[in-house]
Amino acid sequence: MADYDLAIIGGGLNGVSLARDAAGRGLRVVLFEQGDLGGAASSATPRLIHGDLSVLERRGFWRVRRALAERRIWLRIAPHVVRPMRFVIPAHSDERPPWLLRAGLFLYDSLTSRSGLPGSATIDITHHPVGNALKRPFGTAFEYSDCVVDDSRLVVLTALDAAERGAAIRTGARCVRADRTDTWRLAMVDRGHRRTITARALANTTGAWASMVAETVLRQPQPAAAAMQMSQIIVPKLFDSDNVYVFQNSDGRLIFASPFERQFTLIGTVTHDFTGDPAIVAMRGADISYLCEAASRYFRERVAPADVIRTVSGVNLTPASARRGDGTTLFHARRRKAPLITMFGGDVTTSRLRAERAVTRLTPFYPMSPRWTAGAALPGGDFAWDRFDTQVDLARERWRFLSEGEARRLVAAYGSRLSAVLGEAKTRDELGPAFGPELTGAEVRYLMACEWARFPEDILWRRSKLGLTMSAADRDTLAAFMAGVNDPSRPG
Ligand SMILES: Cc1cc2nc3c(=O)[nH]c(=O)nc-3n(C[C@H](O)[C@H](O)[C@H](O)COP(=O)(O)OP(=O)(O)OC[C@H]3O[C@@H](n4cnc5c(N)ncnc54)[C@H](O)[C@@H]3O)c2cc1C
Repeated sequence: MADYDLAIIGGGLNGVSLARDAAGRGLRVVLFEQGDLGGAASSATPRLIHGDLSVLERRGFWRVRRALAERRIWLRIAPHVVRPMRFVIPAHSDERPPWLLRAGLFLYDSLTSRSGLPGSATIDITHHPVGNALKRPFGTAFEYSDCVVDDSRLVVLTALDAAERGAAIRTGARCVRADRTDTWRLAMVDRGHRRTITARALANTTGAWASMVAETVLRQPQPAAAAMQMSQIIVPKLFDSDNVYVFQNSDGRLIFASPFERQFTLIGTVTHDFTGDPAIVAMRGADISYLCEAASRYFRERVAPADVIRTVSGVNLTPASARRGDGTTLFHARRRKAPLITMFGGDVTTSRLRAERAVTRLTPFYPMSPRWTAGAALPGGDFAWDRFDTQVDLARERWRFLSEGEARRLVAAYGSRLSAVLGEAKTRDELGPAFGPELTGAEVRYLMACEWARFPEDILWRRSKLGLTMSAADRDTLAAFMAGVNDPSRPG
């Protein structure tokens, strides 16, 4: 008998979503990720859970409706990492006329079924706080509801749920060879050790590496797809209001500017073809200038490339023949050949559904329980989305030393499981050493013990974004502490 029912190579959003779905249906699942969970394209998404207005413009009504239905599910199952926001589109006389925007948003509202989120509205921004950050000529704007997501935490929480349902999650484990007969035999380099396992089915969810892995590791036909890069920039906070601005750029593209980690603004996205090694992705200077100029058309404060604190880029494959948001799922099974699923690309909004459909394709091969992921909260997400502020208040009552901002960050990251991180601490000192004003030894230990964090970057850039504000000295102290936890013989 094979060791596992399903082996998954690649721990991005597609891989962990498959793992969660399949483990919850009773399959014996193992996932191998060569680096950290969500370490590649899945932590460089536009961070939106939305129906996508640009799809509506291309008359993709059914697709928008499906994405909005998924948005509702995300709010229900992940109210800590998925937060509703008001999105604001300032009307620009050179771009889409106001009547077209109004009609589009009317349609958007009507495709949204029972979301509980407020509908769209027209606002006079000369007398509204959202207008404060914008240039004078913008008098009218349209406001509508959509959601933002912490993409890299979504990956980790999905993996955590998969693990709690029995999946084995191995990070730092690179699949180097897979032989296909009526089962798969996989060879791994797992944290320096060679290891072999067998599985009844295999999923290649290696994103930008999927073609290369198909050719060199699996020795199977490569999917017909091209690599695309997507990038965003992070700049110091440009506005105080809790809105996402949607700008119509002069080339017709929509540019999003979102509040990011209290002190910053995230602006994106720009996409183009990519060639090279997906492990080395850098944003082009021209793309940085493009986003700065797009933002400067709207914001009072000019945004210059020198203001950019960090760039965020990811690469994934996109098929020439399909729409990008859908992603691609290829299923291959033949007599005496174990099934192979290849899944890449696609947006965050529909990732749960994509995984559900893919695992359902394995139904003829295994007895399994019915679909379930739409109704089960992710770890820490078992509260109503409109009770987020209450969760924050409860956290501050219980851990009185938390500031409002800290409590918000912690609830957004851990939701109702915050007690697993802070325990019964009555003072900050009880949480162990401090790495900067917010990160404590207790949180680091929790992330290492329960969420597969191994290196400072895993914590500073994926399980949180505290890397944006942490000093070099604090980072060094954190690295030494983590090395001590990894190796108890060293002082932590
Ligand atoms: C151009 C572009 C536009 C996009 N637009 C949007 C959008 O509008 N909205 C949206 O929500 N998302 C968008 N995305 C999607 C998003 O960025 C990701 O594509 C999505 O999160 C799915 O990622 P993934 O799991 O397929 O790949 P990844 O997150 O890249 O994960 C693949 C993982 O496989 C691992 N791996 C590779 N080889 C091996 C091996 N041999 N052994 C073990 N592990 C291995 C890698 O380390 C990596 O972590 C876009 C992406 C691109 C590139």
